[in-house]
Amino acid sequence: MAEIIDGNAVAQSVHAEIRGELSKLNFSRRPCVAFIRVGDDPASVSYVRKKERVAGELGMESRLHLLPESASQEELDSLIDSLNADDSVDAVLVQAPLPPQLDERKTFNRVRPDKDVDGFSNANLGLLCQENPRAFVACTPAGIVELLKRAGVETRGKSAVVVGRSLIVGKPMALLLMRKGMDATVTVCHSKSENLARICAGADILIAAVGRPQTITADMVKEGACVIDVGINRIPCAEKKSGYRLVGDVDFDSVEPKCSKITPVPGGVGPMTVAMLMRNTLNAYKYHMGL
Ligand code: NDP
Repeated sequence: MAEIIDGNAVAQSVHAEIRGELSKLNFSRRPCVAFIRVGDDPASVSYVRKKERVAGELGMESRLHLLPESASQEELDSLIDSLNADDSVDAVLVQAPLPPQLDERKTFNRVRPDKDVDGFSNANLGLLCQENPRAFVACTPAGIVELLKRAGVETRGKSAVVVGRSLIVGKPMALLLMRKGMDATVTVCHSKSENLARICAGADILIAAVGRPQTITADMVKEGACVIDVGINRIPCAEKKSGYRLVGDVDFDSVEPKCSKITPVPGGVGPMTVAMLMRNTLNAYKYHMGL
Protein backbone atom coordinates (compact mmCIF):
# COMPACT_ATOMS: atom_id res chain seq x y z
CA MET A 1 0.00 0.00 0.00
CA ALA A 2 1.33 3.40 -0.94
CA GLU A 3 1.56 6.32 1.44
CA ILE A 4 -1.03 8.88 0.36
CA ILE A 5 0.58 12.32 0.38
CA ASP A 6 -2.04 14.54 1.99
CA GLY A 7 -1.82 17.90 0.21
CA ASN A 8 -4.48 19.41 2.46
CA ALA A 9 -2.45 18.63 5.58
CA VAL A 10 0.80 19.95 4.10
CA ALA A 11 -0.98 23.09 2.89
CA GLN A 12 -2.34 23.62 6.41
CA SER A 13 1.19 23.54 7.83
CA VAL A 14 2.34 26.08 5.22
CA HIS A 15 -0.66 28.26 6.15
CA ALA A 16 0.31 27.98 9.84
CA GLU A 17 3.86 29.11 9.00
CA ILE A 18 2.52 32.09 7.04
CA ARG A 19 0.14 33.00 9.90
CA GLY A 20 3.08 32.77 12.32
CA GLU A 21 5.21 35.09 10.17
CA LEU A 22 2.35 37.55 9.71
CA SER A 23 1.66 37.69 13.43
CA LYS A 24 5.23 38.86 14.01
CA LEU A 25 4.90 41.72 11.53
CA ASN A 26 3.42 44.83 12.99
CA PHE A 27 3.00 47.08 9.99
CA SER A 28 0.63 49.75 8.78
CA ARG A 29 -1.03 47.55 6.19
CA ARG A 30 -1.64 43.88 5.48
CA PRO A 31 -0.36 41.98 2.42
CA CYS A 32 -2.74 42.56 -0.47
CA VAL A 33 -3.37 40.35 -3.51
CA ALA A 34 -5.45 41.55 -6.46
CA PHE A 35 -7.24 38.97 -8.60
CA ILE A 36 -8.36 39.68 -12.14
CA ARG A 37 -10.98 37.37 -13.60
CA VAL A 38 -12.17 37.81 -17.18
CA GLY A 39 -15.58 36.26 -17.86
CA ASP A 40 -17.37 33.56 -15.87
CA ASP A 41 -15.60 30.29 -16.67
CA PRO A 42 -16.92 28.04 -13.84
CA ALA A 43 -13.51 26.56 -12.98
CA SER A 44 -11.96 30.06 -12.84
CA VAL A 45 -14.80 31.31 -10.63
CA SER A 46 -14.19 28.43 -8.23
CA TYR A 47 -10.36 28.79 -8.21
CA VAL A 48 -10.47 32.53 -7.55
CA ARG A 49 -13.09 32.09 -4.82
CA LYS A 50 -10.88 29.51 -3.12
CA LYS A 51 -7.80 31.76 -3.32
CA GLU A 52 -9.78 34.71 -1.90
CA ARG A 53 -11.08 32.54 0.93
CA VAL A 54 -7.61 31.31 1.92
CA ALA A 55 -6.15 34.83 1.71
CA GLY A 56 -8.91 36.02 4.06
CA GLU A 57 -8.32 33.14 6.49
CA LEU A 58 -4.63 34.05 6.64
CA GLY A 59 -5.37 37.71 7.37
CA MET A 60 -4.38 38.99 3.93
CA GLU A 61 -6.40 41.47 1.97
CA SER A 62 -7.72 40.42 -1.42
CA ARG A 63 -9.42 42.45 -4.11
CA LEU A 64 -11.36 40.97 -6.98
CA HIS A 65 -11.51 42.79 -10.32
CA LEU A 66 -13.97 41.42 -12.85
CA LEU A 67 -13.88 42.10 -16.57
CA PRO A 68 -16.51 40.92 -19.06
CA GLU A 69 -15.84 37.94 -21.35
CA SER A 70 -15.65 40.43 -24.25
CA ALA A 71 -12.89 42.55 -22.61
CA SER A 72 -10.22 43.86 -24.96
CA GLN A 73 -6.47 43.54 -24.43
CA GLU A 74 -6.34 47.33 -23.88
CA GLU A 75 -8.90 47.13 -21.05
CA LEU A 76 -7.04 44.27 -19.40
CA ASP A 77 -3.65 45.97 -19.83
CA SER A 78 -4.94 49.19 -18.35
CA LEU A 79 -6.32 47.38 -15.28
CA ILE A 80 -2.98 45.57 -14.81
CA ASP A 81 -1.12 48.89 -15.19
CA SER A 82 -3.25 50.53 -12.50
CA LEU A 83 -2.62 47.62 -10.10
CA ASN A 84 1.09 47.67 -10.95
CA ALA A 85 1.16 51.34 -9.96
CA ASP A 86 -0.90 50.91 -6.77
CA ASP A 87 1.48 50.82 -3.79
CA SER A 88 -1.13 49.15 -1.60
CA VAL A 89 -1.17 46.07 -3.88
CA ASP A 90 1.62 43.52 -3.43
CA ALA A 91 0.50 40.81 -5.81
CA VAL A 92 -1.42 40.73 -9.10
CA LEU A 93 -2.87 37.50 -10.39
CA VAL A 94 -4.67 37.15 -13.73
CA GLN A 95 -6.71 33.95 -13.65
CA ALA A 96 -6.17 31.76 -16.73
CA PRO A 97 -7.54 30.62 -19.12
CA LEU A 98 -8.33 33.91 -20.81
CA PRO A 99 -10.89 34.33 -23.61
CA PRO A 100 -9.38 33.81 -27.09
CA GLN A 101 -9.15 37.52 -28.02
CA LEU A 102 -6.66 38.01 -25.15
CA ASP A 103 -2.99 37.10 -25.38
CA GLU A 104 -1.99 35.15 -22.24
CA ARG A 105 1.75 35.57 -22.64
CA LYS A 106 1.45 39.30 -23.26
CA THR A 107 -0.84 39.56 -20.25
CA PHE A 108 1.43 37.64 -17.87
CA ASN A 109 4.36 39.82 -18.98
CA ARG A 110 2.39 42.98 -18.28
CA VAL A 111 2.35 42.21 -14.54
CA ARG A 112 5.28 43.85 -12.77
CA PRO A 113 7.81 41.09 -11.95
CA ASP A 114 7.82 41.98 -8.23
CA LYS A 115 4.01 41.54 -8.15
CA ASP A 116 3.96 38.47 -10.43
CA VAL A 117 3.24 35.94 -7.66
CA ASP A 118 2.19 33.36 -10.26
CA GLY A 119 5.76 33.42 -11.58
CA PHE A 120 4.55 33.32 -15.20
CA SER A 121 6.38 36.37 -16.54
CA ASN A 122 9.50 36.14 -18.70
CA ALA A 123 11.40 37.90 -15.93
CA ASN A 124 10.53 35.34 -13.25
CA LEU A 125 10.94 32.35 -15.58
CA GLY A 126 14.38 33.72 -16.48
CA LEU A 127 15.32 34.10 -12.81
CA LEU A 128 14.16 30.52 -12.19
CA CYS A 129 16.40 29.28 -15.04
CA GLN A 130 19.30 31.03 -13.33
CA GLU A 131 18.38 29.47 -9.96
CA ASN A 132 18.07 32.98 -8.57
CA PRO A 133 16.38 32.87 -5.14
CA ARG A 134 14.59 36.15 -5.95
CA ALA A 135 12.40 34.39 -8.56
CA PHE A 136 8.71 34.00 -7.93
CA VAL A 137 8.30 30.35 -8.84
CA ALA A 138 5.08 29.12 -10.45
CA CYS A 139 2.87 27.95 -7.59
CA THR A 140 1.98 24.42 -8.73
CA PRO A 141 5.56 23.19 -9.29
CA ALA A 142 6.72 25.08 -6.17
CA GLY A 143 3.98 23.29 -4.23
CA ILE A 144 5.11 19.92 -5.57
CA VAL A 145 8.65 20.60 -4.36
CA GLU A 146 7.23 21.25 -0.87
CA LEU A 147 5.19 18.04 -1.02
CA LEU A 148 8.25 16.02 -2.03
CA LYS A 149 10.40 17.58 0.70
CA ARG A 150 7.85 17.18 3.47
CA ALA A 151 7.00 13.63 2.40
CA GLY A 152 10.71 12.79 2.68
CA VAL A 153 11.13 11.90 -1.01
CA GLU A 154 14.81 11.75 -1.97
CA THR A 155 15.41 13.54 -5.29
CA ARG A 156 19.20 13.70 -5.36
CA GLY A 157 20.53 11.58 -8.21
CA LYS A 158 17.10 10.06 -8.80
CA SER A 159 15.38 9.73 -12.13
CA ALA A 160 12.43 12.12 -12.40
CA VAL A 161 10.05 12.08 -15.35
CA VAL A 162 7.73 15.03 -15.95
CA VAL A 163 4.90 14.35 -18.40
CA GLY A 164 3.84 17.74 -19.78
CA ARG A 165 5.90 20.72 -20.93
CA SER A 166 3.64 23.72 -20.31
CA LEU A 167 5.17 27.01 -19.17
CA ILE A 168 3.10 26.99 -15.99
CA VAL A 169 3.64 23.41 -14.83
CA GLY A 170 5.88 21.05 -16.84
CA LYS A 171 8.82 23.32 -17.70
CA PRO A 172 9.22 25.03 -14.30
CA MET A 173 8.76 21.62 -12.64
CA ALA A 174 11.66 20.21 -14.65
CA LEU A 175 13.82 23.24 -13.81
CA LEU A 176 13.08 22.90 -10.10
CA LEU A 177 13.83 19.18 -10.01
CA MET A 178 17.18 19.60 -11.77
CA ARG A 179 18.38 22.62 -9.81
CA LYS A 180 21.14 22.37 -7.26
CA GLY A 181 19.82 21.00 -3.99
CA MET A 182 17.11 18.94 -5.73
CA ASP A 183 19.66 17.31 -8.08
CA ALA A 184 17.32 14.95 -9.91
CA THR A 185 18.06 13.66 -13.40
CA VAL A 186 15.07 14.93 -15.33
CA THR A 187 13.31 13.74 -18.47
CA VAL A 188 10.41 15.75 -19.89
CA CYS A 189 7.76 14.03 -22.04
CA HIS A 190 4.96 15.52 -24.15
CA SER A 191 2.38 14.53 -26.73
CA LYS A 192 5.00 13.67 -29.36
CA SER A 193 7.16 11.54 -27.06
CA GLU A 194 7.76 8.02 -28.29
CA ASN A 195 7.90 5.16 -25.79
CA LEU A 196 6.11 7.17 -23.10
CA ALA A 197 5.27 4.04 -21.09
CA ARG A 198 8.88 2.82 -21.09
CA ILE A 199 10.28 6.22 -20.11
CA CYS A 200 7.77 6.61 -17.28
CA ALA A 201 8.48 3.10 -16.05
CA GLY A 202 12.10 4.13 -15.41
CA ALA A 203 11.11 7.00 -13.10
CA ASP A 204 11.77 7.07 -9.37
CA ILE A 205 9.61 10.19 -9.31
CA LEU A 206 6.84 10.48 -11.88
CA ILE A 207 4.98 13.75 -12.30
CA ALA A 208 1.89 13.77 -14.50
CA ALA A 209 0.78 17.21 -15.78
CA VAL A 210 -1.10 16.28 -18.92
CA GLY A 211 -4.75 17.19 -18.51
CA ARG A 212 -6.07 13.81 -19.71
CA PRO A 213 -7.66 11.31 -17.32
CA GLN A 214 -5.98 7.91 -16.90
CA THR A 215 -2.91 8.80 -18.97
CA ILE A 216 -0.66 7.06 -16.43
CA THR A 217 -1.55 3.40 -15.90
CA ALA A 218 0.08 0.76 -13.69
CA ASP A 219 2.28 -0.64 -16.49
CA MET A 220 3.93 2.80 -16.78
CA VAL A 221 4.98 2.94 -13.12
CA LYS A 222 8.09 1.48 -11.53
CA GLU A 223 7.57 -0.57 -8.36
CA GLY A 224 8.16 1.77 -5.38
CA ALA A 225 8.05 5.02 -7.38
CA CYS A 226 6.65 8.27 -6.03
CA VAL A 227 3.80 9.47 -8.25
CA ILE A 228 2.57 13.08 -8.26
CA ASP A 229 -0.70 13.69 -10.08
CA VAL A 230 -1.13 17.32 -11.16
CA GLY A 231 -4.10 16.76 -13.46
CA ILE A 232 -7.52 18.16 -12.67
CA ASN A 233 -10.09 16.72 -15.04
CA ARG A 234 -13.85 17.01 -14.73
CA ILE A 235 -15.63 13.87 -15.84
CA PRO A 236 -19.42 13.40 -15.97
CA CYS A 237 -20.88 11.73 -12.88
CA ALA A 238 -24.63 11.25 -12.50
CA GLU A 239 -24.35 10.57 -8.74
CA LYS A 240 -22.86 14.02 -8.03
CA LYS A 241 -25.10 17.03 -7.60
CA SER A 242 -22.71 19.06 -9.76
CA GLY A 243 -22.98 16.42 -12.51
CA TYR A 244 -19.21 15.84 -12.56
CA ARG A 245 -16.36 14.56 -10.45
CA LEU A 246 -12.68 15.44 -10.42
CA VAL A 247 -10.02 12.95 -11.44
CA GLY A 248 -6.30 13.33 -12.09
CA ASP A 249 -4.11 12.14 -14.95
CA VAL A 250 -3.17 8.96 -13.08
CA ASP A 251 -5.31 5.83 -12.94
CA PHE A 252 -5.14 5.93 -9.14
CA ASP A 253 -6.72 2.53 -8.40
CA SER A 254 -4.28 0.55 -10.53
CA VAL A 255 -1.20 2.69 -9.82
CA GLU A 256 -1.50 3.13 -6.05
CA PRO A 257 -0.66 -0.49 -5.06
CA LYS A 258 2.56 -0.30 -7.09
CA CYS A 259 4.09 2.91 -5.80
CA SER A 260 5.59 4.00 -2.49
CA LYS A 261 3.91 7.41 -2.33
CA ILE A 262 1.16 9.02 -4.36
CA THR A 263 -0.91 12.21 -4.34
CA PRO A 264 -4.70 11.93 -4.60
CA VAL A 265 -7.00 14.11 -6.73
CA PRO A 266 -8.54 16.10 -5.21
CA GLY A 267 -6.55 16.81 -2.05
CA GLY A 268 -3.01 16.44 -3.41
CA VAL A 269 -1.32 19.11 -5.50
CA GLY A 270 -4.30 21.51 -5.69
CA PRO A 271 -4.21 22.82 -2.08
CA MET A 272 -0.44 23.33 -2.35
CA THR A 273 -0.86 25.60 -5.38
CA VAL A 274 -2.96 27.94 -3.25
CA ALA A 275 -0.58 27.69 -0.28
CA MET A 276 2.39 28.66 -2.48
CA LEU A 277 0.44 31.59 -3.89
CA MET A 278 -0.03 32.83 -0.34
CA ARG A 279 3.63 32.35 0.44
CA ASN A 280 4.63 34.24 -2.72
CA THR A 281 2.22 37.04 -1.75
CA LEU A 282 3.81 37.24 1.71
CA ASN A 283 7.26 37.41 0.08
CA ALA A 284 6.09 40.16 -2.30
CA TYR A 285 4.73 42.08 0.70
CA LYS A 286 7.99 41.71 2.62
CA TYR A 287 9.91 42.94 -0.41
CA HIS A 288 7.63 45.97 -0.83
CA MET A 289 7.82 46.80 2.88
CA GLY A 290 11.61 46.54 2.80
CA LEU A 291 11.63 43.61 5.26
P1 NDP B 1 -1.34 22.08 -20.88
O1 NDP B 1 -2.51 21.63 -21.70
O2 NDP B 1 -0.80 23.43 -21.06
O3 NDP B 1 -0.15 21.04 -21.11
C1 NDP B 1 -0.37 19.68 -21.18
C2 NDP B 1 0.91 18.98 -21.55
O4 NDP B 1 0.64 17.58 -21.63
C3 NDP B 1 1.49 19.41 -22.90
O5 NDP B 1 2.87 19.60 -22.80
C4 NDP B 1 1.15 18.24 -23.83
O6 NDP B 1 2.09 18.02 -24.84
C5 NDP B 1 1.19 17.09 -22.86
N1 NDP B 1 0.37 15.98 -23.33
C6 NDP B 1 -0.90 16.02 -23.81
N2 NDP B 1 -1.30 14.78 -24.16
C7 NDP B 1 -0.27 13.95 -23.90
C8 NDP B 1 -0.08 12.55 -24.05
N3 NDP B 1 -1.03 11.77 -24.53
N4 NDP B 1 1.11 12.04 -23.68
C9 NDP B 1 2.09 12.83 -23.19
N5 NDP B 1 1.96 14.16 -23.01
C10 NDP B 1 0.80 14.71 -23.38
O7 NDP B 1 -1.78 21.82 -19.38
P2 NDP B 1 -1.18 22.42 -18.00
O8 NDP B 1 0.25 22.14 -17.90
O9 NDP B 1 -1.66 23.80 -17.82
O10 NDP B 1 -1.99 21.52 -16.95
C11 NDP B 1 -1.86 20.12 -16.93
C12 NDP B 1 -2.90 19.55 -15.99
O11 NDP B 1 -2.66 20.03 -14.68
C13 NDP B 1 -4.35 19.96 -16.29
O12 NDP B 1 -5.21 18.89 -15.94
C14 NDP B 1 -4.60 21.13 -15.39
O13 NDP B 1 -5.97 21.27 -15.05
C15 NDP B 1 -3.81 20.67 -14.17
N6 NDP B 1 -3.38 21.77 -13.31
C16 NDP B 1 -3.53 21.59 -11.98
C17 NDP B 1 -3.13 22.54 -11.11
C18 NDP B 1 -3.29 22.27 -9.65
O14 NDP B 1 -3.22 23.20 -8.88
N7 NDP B 1 -3.47 21.02 -9.25
C19 NDP B 1 -2.59 23.83 -11.55
C20 NDP B 1 -2.36 23.88 -12.99
C21 NDP B 1 -2.77 22.89 -13.83
P3 NDP B 1 2.35 19.08 -26.05
O15 NDP B 1 3.18 20.16 -25.45
O16 NDP B 1 3.07 18.28 -27.06
O17 NDP B 1 0.99 19.54 -26.49
